[in-house]
Amino acid sequence: MAVYNFAAGPAMLPKEVMLLAQQEFSDYKGCGSGIMELSHRGKLFAPVRDRAESNVRELMNISDDYEVLFIQGGASLQFCMLAMNLLNGGSADYALTGVWSDKAAKEAKNFGTAHIVASSKETKYDHIPCFCEWDLDPKAAYLHITSNNTVAGSEYFDFPTPPEGVPLIVDMSSDIMSRVIDVNKFGMIYAGAQKNLGPAGVALVVIRKDLLSRTKDCVPTMLKYSTYAENKSMFNTPPTFAIYILALVTDWLKAKGGIAAIEKVNIAKAAKLYNYLDQTDFYFTPVAKENRSRMNVVFRTPNADMDAKFVAEATAAGLTELKGHRLVGGCRASIYNAMPEEGVDALIAFMKEFERVNG
Ligand SMILES: *Cc1c(COP(=O)(O)O)cnc(C)c1O
Repeated sequence: MAVYNFAAGPAMLPKEVMLLAQQEFSDYKGCGSGIMELSHRGKLFAPVRDRAESNVRELMNISDDYEVLFIQGGASLQFCMLAMNLLNGGSADYALTGVWSDKAAKEAKNFGTAHIVASSKETKYDHIPCFCEWDLDPKAAYLHITSNNTVAGSEYFDFPTPPEGVPLIVDMSSDIMSRVIDVNKFGMIYAGAQKNLGPAGVALVVIRKDLLSRTKDCVPTMLKYSTYAENKSMFNTPPTFAIYILALVTDWLKAKGGIAAIEKVNIAKAAKLYNYLDQTDFYFTPVAKENRSRMNVVFRTPNADMDAKFVAEATAAGLTELKGHRLVGGCRASIYNAMPEEGVDALIAFMKEFERVNG
């Protein structure tokens, strides 16, 4: 039975990537040692790290004004690392559009002021507040947003323009490389790898070089962005497996035609699923139509018992990990880059049949 895995993260990886990694795990390119047994500074691994960076630069069209860094600790470490490096006693603007942006703002409070410019918390993060209502501080150290709200199922389709001189910082953990963006609009972009880029264990950080000098000397060496920038992310032993798989996933994405090509597929997959959700009264999605995420499609059946039945029967049919986040319940289909269109077709067919039997 074909299994389609709708997990929110760690999430599906392309089959081709896993098969190649399986081969290279025990014997990397005929050298007699597995990829995980090689020195991170050696002749065989160093090109893997370099390729991960050059693939990211090529795919996202990143200029020399930016550093591309690989840092352990996931996106959650970036919540505090960002504030440690760029806030340091000042005030930064945060838009609260989901649980992750809330967590990011909480971490910032340890290092200064997190000024909330907008929030949809009162309505369970069911929309992105209109930029026209944002209370932006012209003196903010930065403006922080979460481009895709993995738990609530909403996504920004355009980005706010911060006041002159205020860098825009984005947590793109769950929609990085799913769509074309203009990197030059951002001071920093960060993403945990385990949704769209590879396995857990590394975060990708793309940071404008001029921001590196804002960090105070007292910040610990391992938590300074400049340490990673000055040492090709190899001040210490980097997470070699995560970087290796990220290199393979980005190879795969390039072979697929790059981000513009995968964006078309992502638009088509999400449209199919939302069109179906809009046609039925059995399923319901709480997210404002104009903010519906293309990556995490959140929906419910008429009640919580039915949600549980749906998830159990879907799992038995090979459609796995459809349970909503523990904080919000319901159901969630995460359809990142690696989810083929056939997976979405199979899900819709299952949903139709489930509605026919239980509706
Ligand atoms: C998953 C996720 C995180 C947390 O990532 P970790 O790597 O587990 O720390 C942060 N932000 C967003 C938007 C996410 O989807």
